[in-house]
Amino acid sequence: MKAAEGGSIRGPWDVVVVGAGPAGLLAAGRAAMLGARVLLLEKMGQPARKLRITGKGRANLTNMKPLEAHLQEIYPEPRFLRQAFGAFFHHDLVALLQTQGVATKVERDDRVFPASDQAWDVADALIAWAKGQGVELVQHARVEGLVIADGIFSGLRVVRKAAGPSQTIEARCGILATGGQSYPGTGSTGDGFRFAEATGHRVETPRPSLVRIETNPVLASAQGLVLKNVRLTLWIDGKKQASEFGEAEFTAKGLAGATVLRLSRRIVEARLAGRKVAVSLDLKPALDPAKLEARLLRDMEAHRDGRCQNLLRSLLPPQLIPGFCEQLGLGVADPIARIQGPMRKKLLGLLKEMRFEVSGHGGWEEAIITAGGVSVRDLDPRTMASRKIENLYFAGEVIDLDANTGGYNLQIAFSTGWLAGESAARKATEPSPS
Ligand SMILES: Cc1cc2nc3c(=O)[nH]c(=O)nc-3n(C[C@H](O)[C@H](O)[C@H](O)COP(=O)(O)OP(=O)(O)OC[C@H]3O[C@@H](n4cnc5c(N)ncnc54)[C@H](O)[C@@H]3O)c2cc1C
Repeated sequence: MKAAEGGSIRGPWDVVVVGAGPAGLLAAGRAAMLGARVLLLEKMGQPARKLRITGKGRANLTNMKPLEAHLQEIYPEPRFLRQAFGAFFHHDLVALLQTQGVATKVERDDRVFPASDQAWDVADALIAWAKGQGVELVQHARVEGLVIADGIFSGLRVVRKAAGPSQTIEARCGILATGGQSYPGTGSTGDGFRFAEATGHRVETPRPSLVRIETNPVLASAQGLVLKNVRLTLWIDGKKQASEFGEAEFTAKGLAGATVLRLSRRIVEARLAGRKVAVSLDLKPALDPAKLEARLLRDMEAHRDGRCQNLLRSLLPPQLIPGFCEQLGLGVADPIARIQGPMRKKLLGLLKEMRFEVSGHGGWEEAIITAGGVSVRDLDPRTMASRKIENLYFAGEVIDLDANTGGYNLQIAFSTGWLAGESAARKATEPSPS
C-alpha cells in the first residue's frame, strides 16, 4: 500500500482524506484507529502549515469553557456541532496530545496552549499520531476533482508534483478537509468549495472573517496605539447592533484588535449586503456620562489657566490628542476656556462615542478565518456525511461554521475531523451487501 515518491499511489483504500490540516489529520487518524486503510493527501510540501502559525505561533488549541458556553461562540449553526463535540471535545484533545508527549496549559479566558508555546510541537505530534495509527500520508499531492457515479463517491483525481498527469485513486469513502480560503500561502485556497459545488452541494458565499477594518477617518497620529479597556459598538444603517469590550488597535488604515475581530464577521456581512456600517469607540466605558462630566469639570478646574492639551493629557493617551482635537474643531494650544457649553458637550460625546465609518476590511491574505462554506443543511450532524453524495464526508473550515477567537475554530476542525473519520471508517469497513 506504499506510495512511491512521485509514482503511483497504490490502493486499495477504504478512506481517502483530502488535506492534512487539523481536521484532516484527526479524520485520517481516527479512521485508521478503527481499522480502515487510510490515505491522506496534502498538496503542500509540509502538512498542517496553517496550524503551525496559529495563535501567533503558540497555537490556541481549544478552550476549556463548558459545552454551552463553547457553542455560544460559534456561527451560524452551533447546534450542528453537538454530536461532533459529543464524540471529541476539548478534554479529549488535551488527552490525545498528552499521549504524544505534548503537555498543555490553560491561560486567561480558558484558552489552551501547548506548554512549550510552540504550535510546531502540536502539528508534529498530530502527524506522528496519525502515522502511528497507520495512515499513509502523501505530500505534494493535489486533488483536482472527485469521481462520482450515480450519486456515490468512488474516488478522486490527484496530481503529484513529480508525476505530471492526474491519477485516479479509488476509495470506498472520501473526506474533504481542505480548509477555507484565508492565508492561501498555507495551502487553503478554497478547493473544497469548488468540489462541493461541482457535486451539487450548497456553498454559502465564503467571506474573510476575524479581520481588521478600514475606517474613515483614520487617526494617523495614533497608528500602533493599543487601547486596552474600551468598548467598540457596531452600527448598521444607523442602528446599534452589538458591542464588544476589550482591546482596540489603531492601524495605518483603520482599526484592529480583539474587539474589531469579534465584530468583523457582522461588519463584512453587512458591507457585502451594501449596508452602511460604522463603529464607535467608548474611550471611558467605566464612567457613565454624568460621572464623566463631573470628572471633566474637576480636571478643567485643575487646569483652569492651561491649554486644551493639558486637559486632554489627563483624559487620553498623547497619540490620540491631535485626531481628537481635529474632530472637535479645537486647537491643542487653545485656552481651556474654549471648552464651554456646546463644545463641552461635544467633547463628552466624543469620549463616549468616537465614530468611524467602515470603508473596507482586510482580504483573504490576512483574514484568520473563512466565514461561509459548505452548507450544514447538506450535511448530517451525526456523521458529517454529505446528504447529496453517498460515501462523501466533510470536516473543518470547509464547512459553513466559524467562531470567535479563543481556540474555538481549531476545536471545530478537530471535532468534525474525528467524527468524519469515525463515520467514514465504519461505512467503508462494513461488509458489502452480497
Ligand atoms: C494566522 C492565523 C492564526 C490562527 N490562530 C488560531 C488560533 O490560535 N486558534 C484557533 O482556534 N484557530 C486559529 N486559526 C484558525 C485555524 O487555523 C483554522 O480554523 C484551522 O486551521 C482549520 O483547519 P482545517 O483542517 O479545516 O483547514 P486547514 O488548516 O486550512 O488545512 C487544510 C489543508 O488542506 C490542504 N488542501 C487544500 N486543498 C487541497 C487539495 N486540492 N488537495 C490536497 N490538499 C489540499 C491545504 O494545503 C491544507 O494543508 C488561525 C488562522 C490563521 C490564518
